[in-house]
Amino acid sequence: MLIIASANGAVGIDAAMRVLKNGGSAIDAVEAGIRLVEANPAERSVGYNGYPNILGQLELDASIMDGKTLNSGAVAIMRGFPYAISVARQVMDRKLPHVMLAGEGAERFAREIDAEQWASMLSEEVKAIWRERLIENSALLDIDDLDDDTALLDAVVLATDPERVAGTVNFIVIDGNGDICSGVSTSGWAWKYPGRVGDSPIIGAGNYADNRHGACACTGMGEMAIRACTAYGLVSYLRAGLPIGAAGHKAMRDLRDLDGDFIGGMNLIALDREGNHVGMTTRAGSTYIYQHAEMDAHREKEREFVEIPARWAGEERLRDDGSYC
Ligand code: ASP
Repeated sequence: MLIIASANGAVGIDAAMRVLKNGGSAIDAVEAGIRLVEANPAERSVGYNGYPNILGQLELDASIMDGKTLNSGAVAIMRGFPYAISVARQVMDRKLPHVMLAGEGAERFAREIDAEQWASMLSEEVKAIWRERLIENSALLDIDDLDDDTALLDAVVLATDPERVAGTVNFIVIDGNGDICSGVSTSGWAWKYPGRVGDSPIIGAGNYADNRHGACACTGMGEMAIRACTAYGLVSYLRAGLPIGAAGHKAMRDLRDLDGDFIGGMNLIALDREGNHVGMTTRAGSTYIYQHAEMDAHREKEREFVEIPARWAGEERLRDDGSYC
């Protein structure tokens, strides 16, 4: 039994391990672990209290994949329901002839299955941060004049690359039967354009699991993982016979080869069916966590750094110390 997760999964990994030790499945463990991250008010890019879109609305994306059957469920741009991973799981378990529900349809489904709904999804503190961001940039967007007809195209440059906000939770679990499940949940980019869908709910982009080979999940600039099919790409390299480290480097290489004006930070965690795992990142020093059933507590491990020069609106972006951000 093994759990690997993004570092912000620390609040959920104990609960996930308890599920496994009590005989629960990898799917149960992924859901239990991610729910605790979604409910964590300190986490600004997952579930309750994530940074909202440019209009101040919190829109959640999540997906879950069962590596045994390759069944999966996903929700995108869902408002008002904090436990997006549980709704995604129900999309998978209720045997709808669908894999992903988005927007009002996802919310309708969540109501129908009695998913927990919260009247307020943002703390006053996060609302104030959002207001401040808009007030600072009042030339682009007037906070007192936001409605369905407000032009947002120019203001989209305010969107904050997810790497700078550091968010999205990834969990990948191998249970006592050797079954693998992967789950991802996020509120996406801060100040994103309303309706923007990232990689997290897209099977093959931000999330993929296949018992026969392994699994991969991503955080970072989702548009890149969508374009490179990163999660499936890595698993396909395992399928081709590469060891986990080489498969990870190939998937990161595919990301590095992307062209275009918006290239940001990317991170992945992955494991093979034997439980060998890896974390990779474009931000040096970033970590992920893992725990085997025999361990009393999880351990944190530095991800392998892979340089992908960042570009924003076509310009190379450097930190003060000269490293890319
Ligand atoms: N990958 C997520 C997205 O693009 C964001 C993140 O990882 O912070 O929506």
